[in-house]
Amino acid sequence: MVHRNGIYLRFGNLVHYLSLFFGLLLPITSWSTTKEPLVVILDPGHGGGDPGATAKLAKRLISEKDIALAIALRTRKNLENPEYWGPLGRPVKAILTRESDRQVSLEDRSAFARRNKALLFVSIHSNADPSRKARGIETFFLNNTTEAVGLKIEEIENRLSKRHAKGNDEQLLIRSVVADAMVEDSRLAAEKIQASSIAHIKSRGFDVHDRGARQALLYVLLDSQVPAVLFEAFFLSHPKDLEFISQPENRQVVAEGLAQGILRYLALQ
Ligand SMILES: [Zn+2]
Repeated sequence: MVHRNGIYLRFGNLVHYLSLFFGLLLPITSWSTTKEPLVVILDPGHGGGDPGATAKLAKRLISEKDIALAIALRTRKNLENPEYWGPLGRPVKAILTRESDRQVSLEDRSAFARRNKALLFVSIHSNADPSRKARGIETFFLNNTTEAVGLKIEEIENRLSKRHAKGNDEQLLIRSVVADAMVEDSRLAAEKIQASSIAHIKSRGFDVHDRGARQALLYVLLDSQVPAVLFEAFFLSHPKDLEFISQPENRQVVAEGLAQGILRYLALQ
């Protein structure tokens, strides 16, 4: 009994000294971790030989790839601005999957998120609708169940991704099982991004159609292994939307709303 008590005491002392030691370390480690930036991947859709959706505005060709890159660059600037991330108490680092007009493979886009330990992957696009009637903003999150909605967007955004994806559909779906746990976080991110974007654009006096946060089976989101959303900024196929999004100052407003939505999601982490 005495012997066991002795061991207990010595063990107790050890625990005591260890807790003292780590107690001293804790303020240092927590100080350093609070300075670690929160990483977000911004993925401008398409690029290079793949223009995405295109439209003509006063003889000028407007390409989705250019709109997406412009919004992504402005969103990064906002996210990395202390005035934006200040309330979080931690800086935000936004990494783009492309910073110029070049093609990026599906694997490289999703590998970005894994390699950089990102908290969120945001693919940025502009929409198109053959009927030319649809307009507004919508944000998709991954649903890898068969009841996935948003069939039109799947067709448009998956057509090219599929061609560039290595492996077949089945392999992609197997890998997507990992993403299952991310569905709820992705839904939350999509809701914050959608609501913030609509509210911010409206607050600037612009008319914008709110198409909501919706689920879809999207190849670019399947393999990211972090919460992932696809943001569709306006319809290039709608004359009013096209006119709006072709203006740089309006893209700035869109990027501000998008950045605010991303930060609202990060604040919940
Ligand atoms: Zn697209």
